[in-house]
Amino acid sequence: MLYTTNPPTTRADFPILSTEANGHPLIYLDNAATTQKPVAVLQALDRYWTTQNANVHRGVHHLSQVATRLYDEAREKARVLLNAKSTAEVIFTKGTTDGINLVAASLSLSEGDEILLSTMEHHSNIVPWQLAAGKVGAVVRPIPITDEGEIVWDAYVDLLKSGRVKVVGIVHVSNSLGTVNPIKEMARLAHEAGALILVDGAQAAPHTLIDVQDLDADFYTLSGHKLYGPTGIGVLYGKESLLNAMPPYQGGGDMIRVVTFERTTYADLPAKFEPGTPNIAGVIGLGAAVDYLSSLGGKPSGNLRNDLGAAFAEIERYEHALLGYATEKLSKIDGLTITGTAREKAGILAFTLRQAHPHDIGTILDQLGIAVRTGHHCCQPLMRRLGVPATARASFAFYNTFEEIDRLADGVESITEMFA
Ligand code: PLP
Repeated sequence: MLYTTNPPTTRADFPILSTEANGHPLIYLDNAATTQKPVAVLQALDRYWTTQNANVHRGVHHLSQVATRLYDEAREKARVLLNAKSTAEVIFTKGTTDGINLVAASLSLSEGDEILLSTMEHHSNIVPWQLAAGKVGAVVRPIPITDEGEIVWDAYVDLLKSGRVKVVGIVHVSNSLGTVNPIKEMARLAHEAGALILVDGAQAAPHTLIDVQDLDADFYTLSGHKLYGPTGIGVLYGKESLLNAMPPYQGGGDMIRVVTFERTTYADLPAKFEPGTPNIAGVIGLGAAVDYLSSLGGKPSGNLRNDLGAAFAEIERYEHALLGYATEKLSKIDGLTITGTAREKAGILAFTLRQAHPHDIGTILDQLGIAVRTGHHCCQPLMRRLGVPATARASFAFYNTFEEIDRLADGVESITEMFA
């Protein structure tokens, strides 16, 4: 197959990509762990700290008004990114983990309620539910997956029949397999069964344009740092009626209306779920990342959602080409098994080698300047299901190149020879 497709961006936008690792030009293929940051985001952060730093929603003075405006504008950008109906539905969190913990802790669960989680969930979408279930005697039930890494559909349908399912927690794109789960259909079935659905979008948001209304997700979480923005910032989307019915997760300043020692009343959404001084720089950095992404689709149209649509069409096209090329190249290597061969995949390619342990693969590739992730990828139940202790994982972003994949394949090939 010929791969002539062009990336939607220039690598010069990402200064770190011109650095070296262990004496070799850096090849960064650990994008599922975190993505690199474009100059536009770095400049927005620098500008904020050097010229705009103040607390938000508190001061009448100039700087506070500037910071508040930028903060509120970023919330509107996040709303557009997810296509939420209102900014009341956009809660800023520390990240995906924080968002799931918020929902698991605040949702009203009772003894005997069932929480369905797929076998491919990240620990972030397992442990918070176990903690919440343990407090009231609710039950966590795994949804099985096939050897290829897809939901066993009949089993999902059967599990929903119990009449006790309160919530389904499902990863949109698996960080370990690359599987793209059929969220819209899963949400439809969950709702028919009277259950809510929480979607872990940590790995989906960087690869595809999310539409929470079209998916009919009740909750959707993402992490800014996987979306070319800073660490320590994320978004929890929740349907307004559900968020209104949930008690606050944490208490403090900014989330209240009136406080007395007898009783406190809470602020409206989204402030109700954002106590204390927020990560203002992180929010502004995330807004800058959304702006940057929206510029990748060509000429701006003046409509952010349309620009994001055009940009993500380019991102998906290019990343699919990278994934196809990498799959083709790596599967030719003797002793290599690809973990996760679902029909729908995003830019994640995990593998094992007959000749070498994943940890050795990661260490040797690192010596060649190639950054991949090895281990259980925070998915121990999945590793158990697959019968492997760990895998090596290359995860792609739109700034990666076909030449980098050639280097990866050469590196893996050399490992098989070394361990033969
Ligand atoms: N869910 C998935 C699928 C992930 O890949 C990750 C991070 O790797 C998380 C959740 C947790 O994200 P964070 O650590 O940003 O909260």
